[in-house]
Amino acid sequence: MSDVFDLVVVGAGSGGVAASRRAAAHGARVLIVEADRVGGTCVIRGCVPKKLMMYAAGFGQAFEDARAYGWTGSTGSFEMHRWADAKAIEIQRLEGIYRKMLTDSGVELALGRARLLGSGAVAVGDRTVQARRVLIATGGAPAHDALPGLSAAMTSNEVLDLRDVPASLLVVGGGYIAVEFASILAGLGAKVTLAFRDTWPLRGFDNDLRQRLAVALQARGIALAGGVALMALEREATGFALHRQDGSVLRAAAALNATGRTPNTQGLGLADAGVQLDARGAIAVDADSRTSAPGLWAIGDVTHRMNLTPVAIAEGRAFADTEFGRRPNRVDHRTVASAVFTDPPIATVGLSEADAARLGPVDIFESDFRPMKTAFAGGAAHTYMKLVVDGLNDRVLGVHMIGADAPEIVQSLAVALTCGATKRNFDRTVAVHPTAAEEFVLMREPIRRHAKAPPVVA
Ligand code: NDP
Repeated sequence: MSDVFDLVVVGAGSGGVAASRRAAAHGARVLIVEADRVGGTCVIRGCVPKKLMMYAAGFGQAFEDARAYGWTGSTGSFEMHRWADAKAIEIQRLEGIYRKMLTDSGVELALGRARLLGSGAVAVGDRTVQARRVLIATGGAPAHDALPGLSAAMTSNEVLDLRDVPASLLVVGGGYIAVEFASILAGLGAKVTLAFRDTWPLRGFDNDLRQRLAVALQARGIALAGGVALMALEREATGFALHRQDGSVLRAAAALNATGRTPNTQGLGLADAGVQLDARGAIAVDADSRTSAPGLWAIGDVTHRMNLTPVAIAEGRAFADTEFGRRPNRVDHRTVASAVFTDPPIATVGLSEADAARLGPVDIFESDFRPMKTAFAGGAAHTYMKLVVDGLNDRVLGVHMIGADAPEIVQSLAVALTCGATKRNFDRTVAVHPTAAEEFVLMREPIRRHAKAPPVVA
């Protein structure tokens, strides 16, 4: 067979695999190139093993709650190496499923590093193929340049391979990865300190969620060290020291660098191929994921638009439908829901209260309660829900929740937002009882109203 392909995809993560399979379903001859394991960040060293670790961490609280519900008996202790072995087997199984999906779809897999040679030629090791179109889906990797000394710390990659729970852990950063692993490792028994520079963790999320998450993390024994700029991380004989701008020093046996991720653009020959990068080093693309070079597209984290697995998948499928399926399709990044798998978890879709108030008048509806399951067990944890509603046309602009099952609940409500639901649609929806989710259709009066807020002065 000739080495001419309709599409060469570089990177077999979630986005690349989805794009290649969709293109093949439209009849394209597709080669996908992967330098590491098939499945990418999400399956191999991200969302999937992280959630398996989160489940492990959740049993501590479940054992405690069980006693309040009448159960007796020993709760045992956590042996991380047993979790690590079981996790490795599960990830191998999932990688096998990903490989089989490619084979079943008729997509050819080439293992090795791809390099663009210009004029549609792509080198993979000793082999050179011709591509009518090339899709870059190489994802991202942990960044190390936010502060001096970060290279000595673990990243999310190494944390997921831990075989023992560190006695104490210093988490540097306050984003998704920082709060998730702070919560998980605390649940597994580590003494965790979360160090971030803003007032609360999770910049960009609705402030009511951020404040409540801070309270909830502290209630679970996590020390929050926020509001001070971070200067440098230092390796010491017995662990790590984080130096802060106010002169204070935070110490722990282990450290996790969670200060963001960098797009994987090195070694691909992008500059020679005429592919422009943006100011953050990501591949610059238009709304159809086209790069500045003809015949070359890019999707997912390497474009640094919204670094979420389902977004990469949607971008990959939109590309394939547009280019091979005669079904032009674009991803609407405005109503993408996301979740943060802390304990309690957060989920959100649409505009925060502050962002919505900058655009026009808004009505805010809230519900704050102790969930039935926790209250029965004597727990103090609260669930909080918020609807941000357009004050002019009644459209629901934002849905925000912190509390048990928030990701599952908000996923469904994201459908309503995508359909342009109004608050009246929520009011006309009959509740499912007894659930926490029903509170979203039982919010009667706004808790506050904003006239259009003045613009933020930089
Ligand atoms: P984020 O961009 O979410 O967070 C980076 C954090 O690092 C922020 O708190 C930021 O602080 C901090 N930071 C950066 N530079 C400095 C500095 N010089 N000094 C002090 N703090 C600094 O990145 P993550 O690494 O947590 O996650 C990467 C991406 O992966 C996320 O954007 C997310 O899209 C995705 N992800 C999604 C998950 C999910 O869907 N559940 C889970 C994990 C990751 P500040 O806010 O002050 O700038």
